[in-house]
Amino acid sequence: MARRAVQEVVARFVAGGGEYRHMHAAPGAEPGVVTLNGERRVASAIVYACGPWLPKVFPDVLGGRIFVTRQEVAFIAPPDGDDSFDEARLPGWADFNGGDLYYGFPNLESRGFKIARDTHGAAFDPDTGDRRVTEAGAQLLSAFAAHRFPALAGRPFTEFRVCQYENSSNGDFLIDRHPTMQGVYLLGGGSGHGFKHGPEVGRMMAELVNDGRAPDPRFSLATKQTVQARSVL
Ligand SMILES: Cc1cc2nc3c(=O)[nH]c(=O)nc-3n(C[C@H](O)[C@H](O)[C@H](O)COP(=O)(O)OP(=O)(O)OC[C@H]3O[C@@H](n4cnc5c(N)ncnc54)[C@H](O)[C@@H]3O)c2cc1C
Repeated sequence: MARRAVQEVVARFVAGGGEYRHMHAAPGAEPGVVTLNGERRVASAIVYACGPWLPKVFPDVLGGRIFVTRQEVAFIAPPDGDDSFDEARLPGWADFNGGDLYYGFPNLESRGFKIARDTHGAAFDPDTGDRRVTEAGAQLLSAFAAHRFPALAGRPFTEFRVCQYENSSNGDFLIDRHPTMQGVYLLGGGSGHGFKHGPEVGRMMAELVNDGRAPDPRFSLATKQTVQARSVL
């Protein structure tokens, strides 16, 4: 559903006169320059919202400030004929579990009961990292599901996903200008919770670009440390 939401934003952007291009972007050497699939382009403002790839695009500025971690997600088949895990009867949930947080979603679109652990996994390269779930990870999720939802004990998995958190040091967003490159803006640090904040984060970045205002100190590059100390969940 999140994927469709993003596709809808693109469709509306294009319908509103915007241009969407699927291209690889890299910062140019001069201010206002970006290369798209190697072709040089000039723009008055360039926003890099490259998520877990930001440290690769700006290794000097963000190399040690965005911590990309491997996160495993599992889907479990509810008991046959049992609708108590459907969205009409089960909300999204999070169990803070003394700091080792687990969370999940009901059986949306019959994909299965979704469960994941919020604790940061190992460092992960979004281009080359192994996206096969580990046996240990699957067992951990299955055991926690059985612990909190006994009816799911021993139920088969229907699907796995491995993706990545793009963590800032404290878990807060990065919405700021590049420190030295004129006209370049940095947007990221979703830290495992960025999707739902998309509209507001987008609005804040648009204001930064259009109105030239100062970034909110909370979201500034200056508050992004090189040592992780998560305070925003
Ligand atoms: C397991 C898991 C569960 C999560 N659950 C939730 C949740 O329940 N709620 C929630 O709100 N958030 C959740 N999140 C977090 C959310 O997914 C992220 O915070 C959000 O996707 C970050 O958005 P983004 O646009 O910064 O980065 P991304 O969504 O990663 O997008 C970055 C894009 O940049 C593109 N890109 C990278 N480099 C380049 C380049 N050089 N040129 C061109 N394009 C480039 C990439 O292809 C990618 O499409 C979860 C994340 C994970 C991993």
